[in-house]
Amino acid sequence: MVLDSLARPDPIAPADPSTLGGEPRLLALRQTFPALGPEFHGTTAPQGLPQPRLRLVSDDAAQLLGLRVPAPDDPRDDGLRALWAHTFSGNAAAADGSAISTVYAGHQFGNWAGQLGDGRAHLLGEALAADSSQACGHDWWEVQIKGAGRTPFSRHADGRAVLRSSLREFLCSEAMWHLGVPTTRALCLVDSDLPVRRESVESAAVVARLSPSFLRFGHFEHFSHSGRHDALRRLLDYTVARLYPQAAQAANPALELLRQVAAATAALIARWQCVGFVHGVMNTDNMSMLGWTIDYGPFGFVDAFDPGYTPNTTDAYGRYAWARQPGVARWNLLALAQALLPLIGDEQAARDAVEDFADHFMPAMRDGMQAKLGLGAARDDDPDLVQDWIDLLAACRADWTVSHRQLAHWVARPQAGVPAALQQQFAAWPQRLQDWLERLRLRLGELEPAQREARAAGMLRANPCYVLRHHLAQAAIAQAQAGDFGPASRLMTVLRRPCEEQAGSEDLAAPPPPDAGPPVLSCSS
Ligand code: AMP
Ligand code: MG
Repeated sequence: MVLDSLARPDPIAPADPSTLGGEPRLLALRQTFPALGPEFHGTTAPQGLPQPRLRLVSDDAAQLLGLRVPAPDDPRDDGLRALWAHTFSGNAAAADGSAISTVYAGHQFGNWAGQLGDGRAHLLGEALAADSSQACGHDWWEVQIKGAGRTPFSRHADGRAVLRSSLREFLCSEAMWHLGVPTTRALCLVDSDLPVRRESVESAAVVARLSPSFLRFGHFEHFSHSGRHDALRRLLDYTVARLYPQAAQAANPALELLRQVAAATAALIARWQCVGFVHGVMNTDNMSMLGWTIDYGPFGFVDAFDPGYTPNTTDAYGRYAWARQPGVARWNLLALAQALLPLIGDEQAARDAVEDFADHFMPAMRDGMQAKLGLGAARDDDPDLVQDWIDLLAACRADWTVSHRQLAHWVARPQAGVPAALQQQFAAWPQRLQDWLERLRLRLGELEPAQREARAAGMLRANPCYVLRHHLAQAAIAQAQAGDFGPASRLMTVLRRPCEEQAGSEDLAAPPPPDAGPPVLSCSS
């Protein structure tokens, strides 16, 4: 049975670059997914990249696998650098037939889209985690490359990813992780001169991503909607054994899985809302069964706060706007419940499990905002105080990140007066800001100085000064397209410590300049 062979795999030997299969290898990898059955995947050799160049590596993602990172510009590491580029461009796997792409389906913008699948992603395999606590308790990281060419699920597309979108995914995955938002990781970015046609001709790149699992709601929808309930049950067993082993003990494991995914998704969306992240394409095929952020496309961080902000120009009705993300997550969980229904068997119980979303989301969001505003444990009047703040931010189109950060500074040093950078954000309604600050001052007034200091320190940890703003990503992309990855590397380094003000990085904390253009993108990637 699938479960027994997959639940506790035999440990594999650590990677020895020199001995595996004739050609030097960077990683020792295994595949477990194919044991589910042939209908779950296609075996497909990546097309790889011609003359691949290793451009960016996330040192701390590399540590997750215990991989040594080649030192930039050190000729002694040329061999290692070439091996990284060979591996993560997909060129190494092109020859050995070990990579797979998986099939899933999904609802896109509320409509059933039918079969989709990994149209440009290849699962190279799973690597043993150097430290399972870093993988949130999982022992293995799946290693997936995105953009290495066509797969059986590419439909009419080219299986490629352009440098621009790959760099955004690379930077944002790592930035989100350091913001404390559950997310797939980005190990490295490899590029090439290979031309890729989008609105214009661009160049190709591949991002290597890590996650304990790349399973999506859409994997379940695929087998459910096509009536293959045997396969659906195998997928359930596999998912429970790997991601939610506690659910195996439940009377109804499918129902318990749904509950757990609802809870994880609620925690995720609360984090998104608090850091002002808008995913942009919350289709069910982009919803992870782990409740992690996955598939960075036309995402954005809110600058001037508008609850209706969506970065995705394709989303004409704002279905996936900031304020709608919680409701859409619930809608997506209903789609997952529908897919699991043949295994759950009880429609009301499935509905109730989805309604658990609100029971998890509301307190997570409340706690997140309480921490951002330094309020500590919630009191009766706090929801009004928080809502009025959010309304005020919206009315003034105040910068989400700067406003919260500066508020933390004000709480830390009230004697210094209201920071000019805070006042500036509320120039449209200065009196409303003063009135609201007065309410906050009264609310925090009873705190002892030491308590107040602790609150302010908590606020500085809850309110980043650096997020991957659209205009910063765009500037780094422009430089990278001209061959200079220095600015991208600098951004990555600063975003690793988003809540610490770093001398010389003030430009990366500032709101976009007036001529930056709207923070929006199309789906083209
Ligand atoms: P996304 O909107 O990026 O989540 O992608 C939706 C679907 O389109 C997924 O099945 C992707 O694998 C597929 N897809 C997107 N871009 C490409 C591409 N360039 N080549 C092949 N498939 C793609
Ligand atoms: Mg996707």
